[in-house]
Amino acid sequence: MKKIGLIGGMSWESTLLYYKLLNEKVKSLRGGFHSANCVIESVDFAEIAALQAKDDWNALDELMKTRARALESSGAEMILICANTMHLSVPAIEQSSKVPVLHIADVTAAEIKNKKLKKVALLGTKFTMERDFFRDILEKNGIAVLIPDEEGRNKVHDIIYKELVNGIVTDESKKAYVSIIESLITEGAEGIILGCTEIPLLIKPMDVDIPLFNTTKIHAEKAVEIALEGSY
Ligand code: GLU
Repeated sequence: MKKIGLIGGMSWESTLLYYKLLNEKVKSLRGGFHSANCVIESVDFAEIAALQAKDDWNALDELMKTRARALESSGAEMILICANTMHLSVPAIEQSSKVPVLHIADVTAAEIKNKKLKKVALLGTKFTMERDFFRDILEKNGIAVLIPDEEGRNKVHDIIYKELVNGIVTDESKKAYVSIIESLITEGAEGIILGCTEIPLLIKPMDVDIPLFNTTKIHAEKAVEIALEGSY
């Protein structure tokens, strides 16, 4: 089994989900006492969030490159960035480390194509919803992308940073997300991408009538399938 390297702590609430999903997937495929061969480089999220708020992507790239190189030295054969937003640093990481990054948008696009959907809505931080790094990959795969209006984007973003990364889940925030999702369905969304690795703490498949794409789960499970290729 290949060794999976995780850059986690963004936030640790979702890294916990990754660790659980990786181990559960290995167990479901191999049975017995089998568990994931992995190593986690866990960052201090306060540092990341402060640099994001300053829009200092050069410093964020440097930080992510250092963590990717540490994973390479630990023998990782694949890198998972346990956050959608920090995939903005993928080009920098790819220049400085030889270990392949499993891109969260690539695996999500593949899943949407499997379900034959043509138009989906993307929820995540403002970086993820408003910049091109995620949208471009979906569009290259023939998938049209909707995002909430400005008020909706602010709401989705604030709930992530003020609540979800601190493990706070409230009915009020769930209602706010569901109402934003309902407007996106009215605009033609056939599926909803939970494009922030903490959103699955708040929104579950039973909360919505159309398919949800849980990027945390899709990413972790695909990593295990690749890590185990040929060995189960
Ligand atoms: N985990 C998040 C994501 O998937 C948000 C926290 C961050 O900014 O890294 O985008």
